[in-house]
Amino acid sequence: MQIPFLSFSGQHDAIREEVLAAIARVYDSHWYVLGQEVEQFEAAYAAFNQVQYCIGVGNGLDALELSLRALNIGSGDEVIVPSNTYIATWLAVSHVGATIVPVEPRLDTYNINPDLLEAAITSRTCAIMPVHLYGQACEMDAIMDVAYRHNLYVIEDNAQAHGAAYKGQLTGSFGHVNATSFYPGKNLGALGDAGASTTNNAALAKKVRTLRNYGSQQKYYNEVIGHNSRLDELQAAVLSAKLPMLIEWTGQRQEVAALYNERLASIPDVHLPAVAAGATHVYHLYVVRTSRRDDLQQYLAEQGIGTLIHYPIPPHLQEAYRFMNFKAGDFPIAENLATSCLSLPMWPSMTAAEVDRVSDALHTFFKS
Ligand SMILES: *Cc1c(COP(=O)(O)O)cnc(C)c1O
Repeated sequence: MQIPFLSFSGQHDAIREEVLAAIARVYDSHWYVLGQEVEQFEAAYAAFNQVQYCIGVGNGLDALELSLRALNIGSGDEVIVPSNTYIATWLAVSHVGATIVPVEPRLDTYNINPDLLEAAITSRTCAIMPVHLYGQACEMDAIMDVAYRHNLYVIEDNAQAHGAAYKGQLTGSFGHVNATSFYPGKNLGALGDAGASTTNNAALAKKVRTLRNYGSQQKYYNEVIGHNSRLDELQAAVLSAKLPMLIEWTGQRQEVAALYNERLASIPDVHLPAVAAGATHVYHLYVVRTSRRDDLQQYLAEQGIGTLIHYPIPPHLQEAYRFMNFKAGDFPIAENLATSCLSLPMWPSMTAAEVDRVSDALHTFFKS
C-alpha cells in the first residue's frame, strides 16, 4: 500500500457534484471578476471566521501584504515575525519595505514564544505577525497583551489554521487585520490560488478592498497606488461549495492526529506535536521531531510513504535574506526544527489502516 503525503480523493469525491455545479454556474454567468460569487464567499467566510469583514484576494502572500499596507506599515517600521514559518510571512514584510525582526518559537508547539516578544520590541516596532503554524493557534492572549501594552498592531497569518481557536476565539479574528490563504493544499483550498484578509475594522476592510483593486473603489478613479489581487469568481464559487465541509474535515484531521499520537507515543526518539493549553489544533500538518530525521524520511520513502519537511531552510538562512547578514546559530530553535522536523501523511479521509501502516513503519525504523 503506497501512502502519499496528501490525497484529495476522499474530499473531492464527497463534493464533486457541488463543485462542478459551482464551476458551471460561473461559466454560464459570463461574469468572472468581482461579482456575486466573491461577495457570497466573503460573507460566508466572515461568518465562519466570526469576523465582520472578509476581503477575497489573489493569494495568501497578497493578503499578508495588503493587510500590512492597510495599516500603513512600511519603510522604517519593524515587524516581529516568527523565525520558524513559511517564507511568505517574511516576504510580505519585505514587500512593504519594513524591517523583519525574527522571534524564536517554542520547541514543542513550534509557535512563536510570547515570552520572547518584549525583548524584541524597539521604538520602531509597529506590529507582531503571529503565524498559527501547522494548524495550531498561537498563545493569543499573551501576544495580544504585549501588543496592547506596547501599542502594536497584530496581523495574524492564518494560512494554515482555518477554524483553529484560542480559548474559544477563532484564529483570524484576534488581530487588527489578518490574512489567510486558500492554496489548494490548505485546510480550505481552492482549485488554484486564492486568499483573504479578515478584520472587524470597517476602515481597514475598505482599505484592503481598495488596495486589491488598483487602489480604486469607483472604476477609473484611483485613490492610492493599488494592486491587482482579486479573488476570482470561479475560485470563490469553488470555495463556497467546499466551506460547508470544513468543520467535518477538520474533525477528521483531528481524529487522524489522535490516532498518530496514540500509535507513536511509545517511540522515545519521536517528539509528537504538543498543543498549548487553551489552543486547538486543526492539523494542517502533523509534524514530529526526531534526531534521525533524514534517515527516517528515506526509509519511509522506500516503504512507499510520502513525507515532507516544513521547512528545510529557515527564512533567515535563505539566499533571499543574505542581505540581513544573519548566520547559522542566530535562531537555534528554528535551525533545530529545520533539521529535525518531519511532516507525516495527513488528510481528512485518511483511514485508520493508513495511519497504522505509517506508524508501523516508524516503529520498525526505530527498532533498527
Ligand atoms: C501558504 C502560506 C502562505 C501563503 O499563501 P499563498 O496563498 O501560497 O500565497 C502564507 N503563510 C503561511 C504560513 C502559509 O502556509
